[in-house]
Amino acid sequence: MTDCLFCKMVNGDIPPDKVYEDDEVLAFNDINPQAPVHVLIIPKKHIATLNDAEDSDTQVLGQLNQVAAKLAKDGGYADDGYRVVMNCNTAGGQAVYHIHLHLLAGRQMSWPPG
Ligand code: AMP
Ligand code: ZN
Repeated sequence: MTDCLFCKMVNGDIPPDKVYEDDEVLAFNDINPQAPVHVLIIPKKHIATLNDAEDSDTQVLGQLNQVAAKLAKDGGYADDGYRVVMNCNTAGGQAVYHIHLHLLAGRQMSWPPG
Protein backbone atom coordinates (compact mmCIF):
# COMPACT_ATOMS: atom_id res chain seq x y z
CA MET A 1 0.00 0.00 0.00
CA THR A 2 1.55 3.28 -1.12
CA ASP A 3 0.23 5.34 1.79
CA CYS A 4 1.33 2.91 4.50
CA LEU A 5 4.33 3.93 6.64
CA PHE A 6 5.51 0.38 7.21
CA CYS A 7 5.09 -0.58 3.53
CA LYS A 8 7.39 2.37 2.77
CA MET A 9 9.96 0.82 5.09
CA VAL A 10 9.59 -2.50 3.32
CA ASN A 11 10.07 -0.98 -0.14
CA GLY A 12 12.87 1.35 0.95
CA ASP A 13 11.12 4.71 0.54
CA ILE A 14 11.76 5.29 4.26
CA PRO A 15 14.86 3.54 5.61
CA PRO A 16 14.11 1.68 8.85
CA ASP A 17 16.60 1.23 11.70
CA LYS A 18 16.73 -2.41 10.65
CA VAL A 19 17.64 -5.24 13.01
CA TYR A 20 16.47 -8.24 10.96
CA GLU A 21 15.19 -9.07 7.48
CA ASP A 22 14.26 -12.18 5.52
CA ASP A 23 12.02 -12.83 2.53
CA GLU A 24 8.82 -12.44 4.52
CA VAL A 25 9.64 -10.39 7.62
CA LEU A 26 11.30 -7.08 8.51
CA ALA A 27 12.23 -5.94 12.03
CA PHE A 28 13.39 -2.49 13.09
CA ASN A 29 13.78 -0.39 16.21
CA ASP A 30 10.73 1.55 17.38
CA ILE A 31 11.17 5.31 16.97
CA ASN A 32 9.63 5.92 20.43
CA PRO A 33 10.93 3.05 22.55
CA GLN A 34 8.93 2.00 25.60
CA ALA A 35 11.72 -0.21 26.95
CA PRO A 36 15.51 -0.48 26.53
CA VAL A 37 14.77 -2.95 23.73
CA HIS A 38 11.73 -2.11 21.58
CA VAL A 39 11.66 -3.73 18.17
CA LEU A 40 8.77 -3.87 15.71
CA ILE A 41 8.49 -7.08 13.69
CA ILE A 42 6.30 -6.84 10.59
CA PRO A 43 5.26 -9.00 7.65
CA LYS A 44 6.46 -7.55 4.35
CA LYS A 45 2.95 -8.17 3.09
CA HIS A 46 0.50 -5.41 3.99
CA ILE A 47 -2.06 -6.71 6.50
CA ALA A 48 -3.91 -3.82 8.11
CA THR A 49 -4.98 -5.45 11.38
CA LEU A 50 -5.02 -8.90 12.92
CA ASN A 51 -8.71 -9.01 11.96
CA ASP A 52 -7.64 -8.88 8.31
CA ALA A 53 -5.27 -11.86 8.45
CA GLU A 54 -6.35 -14.72 6.20
CA ASP A 55 -5.69 -18.45 6.40
CA SER A 56 -2.83 -17.96 3.96
CA ASP A 57 -1.19 -15.58 6.47
CA THR A 58 -0.92 -18.21 9.21
CA GLN A 59 2.70 -19.00 8.43
CA VAL A 60 3.90 -15.42 8.48
CA LEU A 61 2.02 -14.74 11.73
CA GLY A 62 4.01 -17.58 13.25
CA GLN A 63 7.22 -16.25 11.74
CA LEU A 64 6.74 -12.92 13.54
CA ASN A 65 6.87 -14.77 16.84
CA GLN A 66 9.79 -16.93 15.78
CA VAL A 67 11.77 -13.83 14.81
CA ALA A 68 10.94 -12.27 18.19
CA ALA A 69 12.35 -15.31 19.98
CA LYS A 70 15.43 -15.36 17.76
CA LEU A 71 16.15 -11.68 18.39
CA ALA A 72 15.65 -12.23 22.13
CA LYS A 73 18.04 -15.18 22.16
CA ASP A 74 20.61 -13.43 19.96
CA GLY A 75 20.37 -10.31 22.13
CA GLY A 76 20.90 -12.30 25.32
CA TYR A 77 17.64 -11.36 27.02
CA ALA A 78 15.61 -14.50 26.33
CA ASP A 79 16.30 -16.07 29.71
CA ASP A 80 15.51 -12.92 31.69
CA GLY A 81 12.33 -12.59 29.66
CA TYR A 82 10.58 -10.23 27.34
CA ARG A 83 7.14 -9.31 26.08
CA VAL A 84 5.57 -9.57 22.64
CA VAL A 85 2.31 -7.76 21.93
CA MET A 86 0.18 -6.91 18.91
CA ASN A 87 -2.36 -4.12 19.23
CA CYS A 88 -5.58 -4.31 17.21
CA ASN A 89 -7.79 -1.35 16.30
CA THR A 90 -8.61 1.66 18.43
CA ALA A 91 -9.39 0.06 21.77
CA GLY A 92 -6.29 -2.08 21.43
CA GLY A 93 -4.12 0.99 20.96
CA GLN A 94 -3.18 0.38 17.32
CA ALA A 95 -1.78 3.50 15.64
CA VAL A 96 -0.13 2.10 12.50
CA TYR A 97 -2.45 -0.02 10.36
CA HIS A 98 0.09 -2.56 9.11
CA ILE A 99 0.33 -5.34 11.66
CA HIS A 100 3.44 -5.43 13.81
CA LEU A 101 4.59 -7.40 16.79
CA HIS A 102 6.17 -5.29 19.52
CA LEU A 103 9.18 -6.95 21.15
CA LEU A 104 9.90 -5.29 24.49
CA ALA A 105 12.74 -6.17 26.84
CA GLY A 106 15.35 -4.83 29.20
CA ARG A 107 13.07 -3.84 32.07
CA GLN A 108 10.47 -5.49 34.28
CA MET A 109 7.10 -5.46 32.52
CA SER A 110 3.94 -4.75 34.49
CA TRP A 111 0.65 -6.59 34.25
CA PRO A 112 -2.04 -5.75 33.40
CA PRO A 113 -0.87 -3.30 30.73
CA GLY A 114 -2.39 0.18 30.78
P1 AMP B 1 0.85 0.56 17.53
O1 AMP B 1 0.33 1.61 18.50
O2 AMP B 1 0.78 -0.83 18.07
O3 AMP B 1 0.23 0.71 16.16
O4 AMP B 1 2.40 0.86 17.40
C1 AMP B 1 2.94 1.71 16.43
C2 AMP B 1 4.38 1.90 16.79
O5 AMP B 1 5.04 2.42 15.65
C3 AMP B 1 4.62 2.87 17.94
O6 AMP B 1 5.31 2.21 18.99
C4 AMP B 1 5.45 3.97 17.30
O7 AMP B 1 6.43 4.49 18.16
C5 AMP B 1 6.06 3.26 16.11
N1 AMP B 1 6.46 4.10 15.02
C6 AMP B 1 5.75 5.10 14.43
N2 AMP B 1 6.45 5.65 13.43
C7 AMP B 1 7.64 4.98 13.38
C8 AMP B 1 8.81 5.09 12.56
N3 AMP B 1 8.90 6.00 11.58
N4 AMP B 1 9.85 4.24 12.78
C9 AMP B 1 9.76 3.33 13.78
N5 AMP B 1 8.69 3.18 14.58
C10 AMP B 1 7.64 3.99 14.39
ZN1 ZN C 1 1.57 -1.60 4.90
